[in-house]
Amino acid sequence: MARRKQSRGKCAFCGREMTKGGLSKHLSSCSQRQETIDAANAKRGAAKQLYHLQVQDAWSPDFWLHLEMNGDATLQDLDYYLRAIWLECCGHLSRFSFGGWGGGEIAKETRIDRIFEPGVELTHIYDFGTSSETLIKAVRAREGKPLTAHPIMLMARNNTPEVVCVECGKPAAYLCMECLYEYDEPGWLCAEHAETHPHDNYGDPVPLVNSPRLGMCGYDGPAEPPY
Ligand SMILES: [Zn+2]
Ligand SMILES: [Zn+2]
Ligand SMILES: [Zn+2]
Ligand SMILES: [Zn+2]
Repeated sequence: MARRKQSRGKCAFCGREMTKGGLSKHLSSCSQRQETIDAANAKRGAAKQLYHLQVQDAWSPDFWLHLEMNGDATLQDLDYYLRAIWLECCGHLSRFSFGGWGGGEIAKETRIDRIFEPGVELTHIYDFGTSSETLIKAVRAREGKPLTAHPIMLMARNNTPEVVCVECGKPAAYLCMECLYEYDEPGWLCAEHAETHPHDNYGDPVPLVNSPRLGMCGYDGPAEPPY
C-alpha cells in the first residue's frame, strides 16, 4: 500500500519545511533557534523550565503544532491557546485528562511543570457533544529564558491541507456545510464554484482555514494563534 503523504510545516526560526516528526528532531538542533535561545539567555530575567509540546488532533494527524511553553504557566493558558488556534466555535466546555475520556479530569489551574515531563501525554477534549480531541505530548524540557513575553511560543504548525474542488479538481478555498451535513459529501469548492454553488441552508460556503475542527458544529475559523 502506498504510504500517505504526511503534512508538512515550517520551522518558525529558519523557515525550513518538514514533517511533524522531522521538525520534532530539527527543533532541537536548529542553529537559528539556538541563536535565538542564546540571545534570550543573555538578557535579564529569570530562567524557567520550558517545555517543547507536540500537539496533534487525535483523529486527523495532518493537523499538528510544535509549541514551547513556560513551566509556570497553567493548563488554562494551554486551553486558551488551543481554542484560539483551532477550536473555539460557541464557548463549549473542555477538559484535560490522561488517556482520553477514561482518565480523570486534571484541573485547569495545574501548572505545566507539575504535569509534564518528557514522554508524558495528555488529552484535551473540547465540546462534549461534537468533540474535538487533541493529544499533547511533552517531547523535551530545557531550562532557560522564554523566547517571548507570552506563556506559549508557536515553533511550527502544519501547512493548510491542500484539497481540491469537487466540481472541477482545482485547488479548493471554500467549504459548503450543507454538502457536509446533509449529503455527507466533502463540500470543497474553488472560488468560482463557491459563487455558483446552489446550497444555502447553512449560509454561503465558508473559507477553508487551518483547523481540524472546520465544519464541526459549524466551526468556521479564524484558526489564528492568539499572539
Ligand atoms: Zn529551524
Ligand atoms: Zn459549537
Ligand atoms: Zn471548482
Ligand atoms: Zn453544497
